[in-house]
Amino acid sequence: MTALDRGVHLRLPAVDRVLGWPAISALIESHGRSLVLQAARDELAFLRERAEGGTDEGIAHGIHERVDALVVPTLRKVFNLTGTVLHTNLGRAPLPPEAIEAMVQVASGASNLEYDLGTGKRGDRDDHVEALLCRLTGAEAATVVNNNAAAVLLTLNSLALRREVIVSRGELIEIGGAFRLPDIMARAGCKLHEVGTTNRTHLRDFEKAMGTKTALVLKAHASNYSIQGFTAEADERKLGALCKERGLPFVVDLGSGTLVDLARFGLPHEPTPAQTVTAGADLVTFSGDKLLGGPQAGIIVGRASLVAAIKKNPMKRAMRCDKLTIAALGAVLRLYENPERLIQRVPVLRLLARPPTEIAALAHRVLPLLSQHLGTRGQVDVVPVMSQIGSGSLPVDLLPSFALRIKPVGSKKGSGRWLDQLAGEFRKLPIPVIGRIADGAFLLDLRCLEDEAGFLAMLTPSPE
Ligand SMILES: *Cc1c(COP(=O)(O)O)cnc(C)c1O
Repeated sequence: MTALDRGVHLRLPAVDRVLGWPAISALIESHGRSLVLQAARDELAFLRERAEGGTDEGIAHGIHERVDALVVPTLRKVFNLTGTVLHTNLGRAPLPPEAIEAMVQVASGASNLEYDLGTGKRGDRDDHVEALLCRLTGAEAATVVNNNAAAVLLTLNSLALRREVIVSRGELIEIGGAFRLPDIMARAGCKLHEVGTTNRTHLRDFEKAMGTKTALVLKAHASNYSIQGFTAEADERKLGALCKERGLPFVVDLGSGTLVDLARFGLPHEPTPAQTVTAGADLVTFSGDKLLGGPQAGIIVGRASLVAAIKKNPMKRAMRCDKLTIAALGAVLRLYENPERLIQRVPVLRLLARPPTEIAALAHRVLPLLSQHLGTRGQVDVVPVMSQIGSGSLPVDLLPSFALRIKPVGSKKGSGRWLDQLAGEFRKLPIPVIGRIADGAFLLDLRCLEDEAGFLAMLTPSPE
């Protein structure tokens, strides 16, 4: 039945008339004409399609709501209660205040980004992080680009264009869909020379593959998977020594690349760039925003001659970091100079090392208000769960944590939809809350909840 059948007249005003209404002129005043015009057209089209008429106030109200929705920034802060600390879709590492302050300083005015204050001559943006990176990794030289995928691409393109790169079949990795080593290799203009098998690759496999077309040997850290059982990989030191003997650069893509031994904080061991350099790698690449806990960046450290060749590649210019990244990275690296206070000052490390007892206590403090917020709609309790490090770091290692578990009251029927709806409701909070659905419940892992007051302030007692 259409509106006409129901006897309602479709008297929608023309868009030009609507723009002249005082309430809408005020909107144009504050948000600009084209945005309001878009909202007005959308609202009128919506009413026309639904074959509904409308009062002037109703239409103006609809336009207002559409304008509000259009001006909300799409990129917003959220609470990551998924239990995955380094969540790529949720922006990975939270930055320490020192890094944020450093970004604010350079963002608000001019800086000596590429200017040498001593000589008054042109400088190099890498200078703000290179010495720090060399001190922290023991490497001779360092450079930075936008992310580790770029670091790998640039390294391969600079050192192995139209030549062969030897990689173990056990390390032909894919990270999050878009980063697949064979694809990156092809785009870098290199020929992939696979050696060994999926589960076992030996030093002699590399040795046999080395020839006149070989440009380098690449070892990629198994970031997001582990091969277990009957396995073998070439010893890194021996492979490094073999490469040296043959005069081939040995490049290691570490992926996460923590700068400290995580075992100090009771976390699983992960090789550091310093250890990898010591083991004989000529170049090591790693991310800035994984276990390092800094801004998105790709860090390349190693031999001075190879780093110089990489910096000369015109592609480096297309992948260079901006001043905000350099400022934040420098500030985070400076925190690493004092390992004693690191765990409190680098948020990623603080969250990873957060004691389960502290998380449990937090969960019990939040429980009553959350329960009140849900009213009779759901039941909440505190349960032990396992958090993940995320971003392909230490894929098989889980960290004991605690979550608030929300379940529907009574019948299990239709609970899947109920849970989806509940998850959607939490995403609509002023600061969206992202949890996870597992085992017939909505789970909020509190490992990454530090702003307890901000979270509680959004929980209102249920209207029921
Ligand atoms: C994460 C990862 C990358 C990609 O790093 P981004 O900083 O996300 O670009 C490359 N290689 C390995 C081994 C990784 O773990």
